[in-house]
Amino acid sequence: MNSEIIAYLKDIVSEENIYIDEPMSRHTTFRTGGPASLFLCPGNVQELEKVALLIRKLGLPYFIIGNGSNLLVSDAGFEGVMISPTRLDSISLVGENKILAQAGALNSGIAAFARDNSLTGFEFAAGIPGTIGGAMIMNAGAYGGEMKMITEQVDVLSPEGEFMTLSNDNMEFGYRNSAIKGRGYIVLSALLKLKKGSEKEISETMKELALKRKEKQPLEYPSAGSTFKRPEGYFAGKLIEDAGLRGFSVGDAQVSEKHCGFVVNKGNATSSDIYALIKEVKDRVYSSFGVTLEPEVIMVGEF
Ligand SMILES: Cc1cc2nc3c(=O)[nH]c(=O)nc-3n(C[C@H](O)[C@H](O)[C@H](O)COP(=O)(O)OP(=O)(O)OC[C@H]3O[C@@H](n4cnc5c(N)ncnc54)[C@H](O)[C@@H]3O)c2cc1C
Repeated sequence: MNSEIIAYLKDIVSEENIYIDEPMSRHTTFRTGGPASLFLCPGNVQELEKVALLIRKLGLPYFIIGNGSNLLVSDAGFEGVMISPTRLDSISLVGENKILAQAGALNSGIAAFARDNSLTGFEFAAGIPGTIGGAMIMNAGAYGGEMKMITEQVDVLSPEGEFMTLSNDNMEFGYRNSAIKGRGYIVLSALLKLKKGSEKEISETMKELALKRKEKQPLEYPSAGSTFKRPEGYFAGKLIEDAGLRGFSVGDAQVSEKHCGFVVNKGNATSSDIYALIKEVKDRVYSSFGVTLEPEVIMVGEF
């Protein structure tokens, strides 16, 4: 990235929030991925807006990263600007039963805040290891809940630089999808509508769900959660298991022995290993059952 661009950016974002050739393995839960030319963590919405404006003016490629928990970034990295809203992480109560969370707030933090305020409805998301910004884009869900059920509205910065408030309907939430996924919108915050409940019961539900995750999921290894979307009428993990792929590996990338729906990094996997494994699993499941598995994990950079 040329030094003129970096100088412009230093006028907007403080120097300690600008990282040059930043290894993405530090920012993805797979713990893989080569360098991003620039990795920026704007300190507030004004900085974020100015960064977005500059990037648009210069025509630079950009990508918004949340907690990197659903990303596979190429070993060659990302030639462009990674924008991380993780410093925008405030969580506040609005009225009796609503929570306003900035994009970089973690689901775990929001769940704890909801519990402490005796608000029920967010328990399902406590163990989803991402930001609320990522959760809005993905319509993240688990244990019968999904963001669609609790989102009142979402504040975004459009690719044209316009601040917009999108209602739940405008978001067009679908299965691990939303109207703004992959379209260059930046989620700034989400207003969540919950219900009054009992702190004790909320706490118990959260503990129960955390235990379920620990029992069923290979949380001891880096991963990006479920690698594939659930194909209609099937479960990806069951198809993979039935194709005889439990424990199947490419390098240090492995179909989890514990949960076949997860690809895990056993230590030194590269993104290429993970990509090759995903491809092989997809091919073998198709040839065994004629079902096409579609990755839930988002690929970033060249593969
Ligand atoms: C162990 C484990 C368990 C998981 N379990 C679940 C589960 O139960 N249910 C589930 O749905 N998912 C699950 N996941 C996947 C993942 O946590 C979710 O998809 C999560 O919502 C991604 O959020 P993130 O902040 O990490 O986003 P990232 O992975 O960083 O990004 C995901 C997408 O969101 C976009 N994005 C992120 N933030 C913003 C923003 N502020 N503005 C615009 N775009 C943005 C990115 O550009 C990208 O397209 C799991 C992952 C792991 C590792």
